[in-house]
Amino acid sequence: MNEPRIAIVGAGISGIAMGVALQRAGFTDFTLFEKAADYGGTWRDNTYPGLVCDVPSRYYQFTFAMNPEWSQLYSGGPEIKDYLAQVARDQGLHRHTRFGAQVVGARFEDNGWQVTLAGGEVERFDFVMCATGFLHHPNRPAIAGLDDFAGPVMHSSRWDHEVDLTGKRVGVIGTGSTGTQLVSALAGQVPRVVMFQRTPQWILPTVNKPYSELAKRVYRRLPVLGSAAYHMNRAFFAAFSQGLVHEGRIRRLIQWVVERNLKSVKDPELRRKLTPDYQAMCKRLVVSDRFYAAVQRPDVELVTSGIAQVLENGVVTADGHRHELDILVLATGFDSHAYMRPMAITGAGDRTLDQAWADGPRAFEGVMMPDFPNFFMLVGPHSPFANHPLTAVAEAQSFRIVSWLQRWRTGEFATVAPTHAATDRYNAQMRAAAPSTVWTTGCQSWYLGKDGLPELWPWSPGRYEKLIRRAPDPVDYHLNRQIMSRK
Ligand code: NAP
Repeated sequence: MNEPRIAIVGAGISGIAMGVALQRAGFTDFTLFEKAADYGGTWRDNTYPGLVCDVPSRYYQFTFAMNPEWSQLYSGGPEIKDYLAQVARDQGLHRHTRFGAQVVGARFEDNGWQVTLAGGEVERFDFVMCATGFLHHPNRPAIAGLDDFAGPVMHSSRWDHEVDLTGKRVGVIGTGSTGTQLVSALAGQVPRVVMFQRTPQWILPTVNKPYSELAKRVYRRLPVLGSAAYHMNRAFFAAFSQGLVHEGRIRRLIQWVVERNLKSVKDPELRRKLTPDYQAMCKRLVVSDRFYAAVQRPDVELVTSGIAQVLENGVVTADGHRHELDILVLATGFDSHAYMRPMAITGAGDRTLDQAWADGPRAFEGVMMPDFPNFFMLVGPHSPFANHPLTAVAEAQSFRIVSWLQRWRTGEFATVAPTHAATDRYNAQMRAAAPSTVWTTGCQSWYLGKDGLPELWPWSPGRYEKLIRRAPDPVDYHLNRQIMSRK
C-alpha cells in the first residue's frame, strides 16, 4: 500500500484534530508545520487579561480527549491552550511536529505539492492541509496618529506581558468579544479604563462557576458523564443555531433576553449609548457575566464619539474631547478572510490562490477548491459557524479528509479536486440561503464578505456535519487516476 506524504500547516485546534485523525487512521508520514514554538493557535496567541471561552468547557473540547479536569464552566484561555498542547503530546503529535517552521508557499507539480519554508527549504508532499485558522492576522486600524502614541500600543492578540499596568490609564478600542472581556478584566485593576465604542453590542448574560474537586472526581470516575454533558451542550447549541439561521421563536427569545440584560444598566444615558440599533446575533453575540457591571463603574468611561486622532499622550475624539492615556489596546479584531494567506499557493495550471479568491474565499463543502488538487482546508471558507465550537467542526472535516486519503492509499486516484460546477453550485446555494440568516439583518461584522453576504454556513452546524461525514458524490470531483512516479 502507498503511504502518502502529508503536510499540515498550523498546529492549532484544527491542525491537532487533523494530526490525530491521521494517526488514528494509521497514516505515519505526516508533518505538522508550525511557525510558532508551541501548539494552540489562537489560544496560544491570545493571552490578554480576562480571556475566557464563551462556549462551555465540556463542549469546547475534542470528543476523543474529553477532559474531566476543567476548572470551570467556561474555561480561561491558558487552560484551553494547555489542554490543546496536552492532547497533542498525549496523541504523539510531537513526533510529527516541526516548530519554528513557517510555510511560505506551496506549488502543485507532478501530482504533488512542493512546500517551501521561510528559510528556503523545499519538500515534496502528496497532500497539503491548511489548518491556519481565521482569527490570526491582527487588524490594525487605520487611525490617524496611532504611531505617534508614546506609550505601549498592543493588539489584544499580541499582549505584551512586560508592560506594567500598575497605575496606568488604559484605552481599549473595540467592543467585540475581546474588547468587552478586556474591559471587564481591567476594570478595578487599573486607575482608569476608557472604552472607545464605534458600535454597541448585545450582551448575552451567563454565569461562570468553578467545578469543585468533588465534581472533578466524579467526572474522572464516570467518563460517561463528560460525554453526556458534551451532548447536552451540543443540543443547546443546535437550538441556538436555529435562531441564527431562521427568523422565529429562538431569535425572539434571545432578543428578549439581551434587552432584559441591558436593563441592568441603571443610568439611562449609559444604557442608551450601549443600545445597539440592530438585532441580537447579527454581529457575533457577546457572552458575558461581567461587562455591564464593569462599564457602570466610576473608573470606567464609555466613549461613543468617534476617534479623530491619536496623540502622543492620548486620544482626541470627534467631539473635541481629549482622553489622556498611558496604554492603548487595539481590540479591533482580525483579517478573518485571509485564511492561509499570505502563503503563496499555486495550484494546477499555475492558478494562484489570489486568482481563485478574487471575489472572496470560496471552497467546496468548506474543505477543497477546484484547481487545487490534493489540497484541503480545515476551518476554511464557510466553516466558521458563529458561536459553534471549532473543535467539533475540525473533527468532522478531518473525518472527510481522511476518507479521501484512504482511497488514495488503495491506489484509486493520484489527485482529487472538486469541479468548478460543484463549487459554484454549492456557493450559490449558500448565498441563496443567506438572506434568512440573522447576519444579513443590518449590521457590519467580520462575517460579511465583499458582496455584503455572510461568509458563514447559513444552515445548522448539524446539517454541515451530516454533509461532511457522508460519502462524497463522485460527480462533484475530478479524479486523476494516473499515478506518477515519486520525484
Ligand atoms: P471583532 O468582533 O471583529 O470586534 C472588533 C471591534 O473593533 C469592533 O467593536 C469594531 O467596531 C472595532 N473596531 C475595528 N476597527 C475600528 C476602528 N478603526 N475604530 C474603532 N473601532 C474599531 O473582534 P474581536 O472582539 O477580537 O472578536 C473576533 C472574534 O474572535 C469573535 O467574533 C469571536 O469569534 C472570537 N472571540 C471569541 C472569544 C470567546 O470567548 N470564545 C473571545 C474573543 C474573541 P465595529 O463593530 O464598529 O466594526
